[in-house]
Amino acid sequence: MIPEHRLANLLTQVKDSQVMTCPYHNTAAWPSLYHDHRCEHDQLPLQNLHELTRHDDEVWYLQFSHDGTRLASAGKDKMVHIYDTETFRLVRTLSDHREPVAYLSWSPDDTRLITCSQDRTARIWDTSVSSKASTLDGYQTNFSRTDSANGHSNGIRLSSRQPPGLMTATFSLPALTT
Ligand SMILES: [Zn+2]
Repeated sequence: MIPEHRLANLLTQVKDSQVMTCPYHNTAAWPSLYHDHRCEHDQLPLQNLHELTRHDDEVWYLQFSHDGTRLASAGKDKMVHIYDTETFRLVRTLSDHREPVAYLSWSPDDTRLITCSQDRTARIWDTSVSSKASTLDGYQTNFSRTDSANGHSNGIRLSSRQPPGLMTATFSLPALTT
């Protein structure tokens, strides 16, 4: 028996696949079913609008919040910076990690940020507290660390989100910790 909405689900998978394989993907528009999707090279941004220079060493990872209002960056200098994406001014700096920060990820509702470091910890930050002040100083006084995960043998490398419960899984190689 064919499951309900099977055709619609298959068409959605086709669209997702075309977006995932689009080499220059640069649009929020949903692909049309009337033709194959492909963004052209000349649609890529070519003009530098802002240069973010807060990190003292290599920037290893960055990610926009889901609502697009903030950008978080992490790097070899052990720091995590959060910027307001309207002005690209620094909102906060998270400086609790003792080793370089290799990865970060916003929770689905953007209220939390997980940072994963070679200090073998994953720290989860309550970003909702940051909304109290959008000051230019870069310190974590208005952030609260809600949890940390230890026990990784080789440094935490990646994380994934599980909506809607804000559960976050982290793993390193070869150890696995949730
Ligand atoms: Zn595309």
